[in-house]
Amino acid sequence: MTPLIDPFARPISYLRVSVTDRCDFRCTYCMAEHMQFLPKKDLLTLEELDRLCSSFIRLGVQKLRITGGEPLVRRDILTFFRSISRHLDSGALKELTLTTNGSQLAKFAGDLAACGIRRVNVSLDTLDPAKFAEITRWGRLPQVLEGIEAARAAGLRVKINTVALKGFNEDELFPLLDWCAKEDHDLTFIEVMPMGEMGEELRLDQYWPLKDLRARLAERFTLTDLAERSGGPARYVRIEETGQKVGFITPLTHNFCESCNRVRVTCTGELYMCLGQEDMADLRAPLRASPGDEALEQAIRAAIARKPKGHDFDYSRQTVRGQVSRHMSHTGG
Ligand code: SAM
Ligand code: SF4
Repeated sequence: MTPLIDPFARPISYLRVSVTDRCDFRCTYCMAEHMQFLPKKDLLTLEELDRLCSSFIRLGVQKLRITGGEPLVRRDILTFFRSISRHLDSGALKELTLTTNGSQLAKFAGDLAACGIRRVNVSLDTLDPAKFAEITRWGRLPQVLEGIEAARAAGLRVKINTVALKGFNEDELFPLLDWCAKEDHDLTFIEVMPMGEMGEELRLDQYWPLKDLRARLAERFTLTDLAERSGGPARYVRIEETGQKVGFITPLTHNFCESCNRVRVTCTGELYMCLGQEDMADLRAPLRASPGDEALEQAIRAAIARKPKGHDFDYSRQTVRGQVSRHMSHTGG
């Protein structure tokens, strides 16, 4: 079978799938407090999600990341993980992983490890319980820390993802770094993105460019750029004094589009070829049209043939240009 290659000769080897739009948190930069969630009939069933992921794997996807919303609040999600892990056993899939807010990890870590998951990304923006409650609205820090501990106990490697928020966690840069060093977690900072219709001013107020964050780090430490790339927007540095590796995800710069190897599917089966563009292909209709996967694979190929060269996010004029109207919890971070 010919693998998926887009018009700019980029092989598509990485798929991120959102399995739900729901979440037990309401992070202020991600969701409104009172969200209208999708009716259940619109969501892909676990079987449909399995068919969809399996088709992508047949077409050459080697890395699968499950996200949301909060993936671990989807009912029976372990059934999906158990089933899809057959592709790890066969060797077709090299890595199965997830991005989570950590709230349910204490319950699921052991089972996830048993499915062949080796690493999880846990989003954590602050180590202060009061600030944690403020930014996540509904979240509680001790529950997440307990989940992270359970993940470690189950043998999972934990990467902490921290959204850099001006005036919110600027003062926690070094405490977060120290904590990750002590706990042996990798750490990646994410620049806040203009997602959803949450108000331009708020978003620009919160915008803490990672180049500023990096400069602050460099005041205290010697940073060495690492060549390591993931095909995504992350760049890594090593902190010479501690040996720690720190990642920076700057989705607003164009420096990663040329090596982009990924696409995203929402929980309703919309395939987004680029996080920063509105163009998408509906995969739910071909999934539901026939029990076979031929129409589905045709739709996937047709969509990849229109993957754009890059995105149009731009903060440079102090207005949010190229803003996309969907929330992160919809496209799945
Ligand atoms: N609920 C899971 C979690 O929080 O890890 C998975 C889904 S969440 C949408 C995925 C990632 O997107 C999280 O690390 C979150 O911090 C990040 N995110 C959400 N909204 C964002 C925004 N506006 N800008 C940058 N990152 C955002
Ligand atoms: Fe939920 Fe993750 Fe969005 Fe926070 S960032 S509201 S945890 S989906």
